[in-house]
Amino acid sequence: MAKVKKKKTSRYAKLKRGSKARTKNRAASRGGTPDPTNPKRVAAILARPDEAYPVAICELKHANPLQLVISTILSAQCTDVRVNQVTESLYKKYPNAKAFAYANPAELEQEIRPTGFFRNKTKSVIGASKAIVEKFGGEVPRTMEEILTLPGVARKTANVVLGTAYGIPSGVVVDTHVLRLSRRLELTKHEDPKNVEQDLMKILPKDKWIQFSHQLIWHGRRVCVARNPKCIQCNLESICNSKDKTV
Ligand code: SF4
Repeated sequence: MAKVKKKKTSRYAKLKRGSKARTKNRAASRGGTPDPTNPKRVAAILARPDEAYPVAICELKHANPLQLVISTILSAQCTDVRVNQVTESLYKKYPNAKAFAYANPAELEQEIRPTGFFRNKTKSVIGASKAIVEKFGGEVPRTMEEILTLPGVARKTANVVLGTAYGIPSGVVVDTHVLRLSRRLELTKHEDPKNVEQDLMKILPKDKWIQFSHQLIWHGRRVCVARNPKCIQCNLESICNSKDKTV
């Protein structure tokens, strides 16, 4: 009689099955409650990135608040790596707000061209620098109200600059990574950055607003990527119920 060969189950397949079952059980046992944003779970979600990324920082290279404003404007629809390549020589040629404010637009357009959307970005860089020189004495303002008056500066840029350059927790930076991870970790059900930020500001302690967004950005770039997140490497896996999980 022919022997029936037992199919070997790989360690990875077992892990994947176990994780899916855990996720399902957790979701089932919740039955809609308790709230995934309860303080105990939020504390656990905050603790894991602290272990993985204790020194997560903004990856846009800058030496002062003005450079961070400009780098953040340039980073729209562009990688930080590309922005850093462009700004290395840019900040040598334009050392202060005055230099950017009265730059030749056609020249600046060509210099920042690799970052994309260079015509609009040139208008924003020159407009913001002019306002900094003419309305704020050459200093990037330190309040949300004032910084939002700079051309090309919206709430995300304002939070980046106030948080990273001045250490002021004005809000939570919600970029594409923070938005995706906040949804995967059930910290919000919203899909638009404005409402996601409001949810995060309600759930997270204020002294975590700046660091947690840096950590989520790092995690989103390295592990919890948009397609095929590397859940097997993720230290949040045991508390993540996302349908996007790959284990
Ligand atoms: S387990 Fe996967 S989906 Fe969940 S946070 Fe980690 S990498 Fe992202």
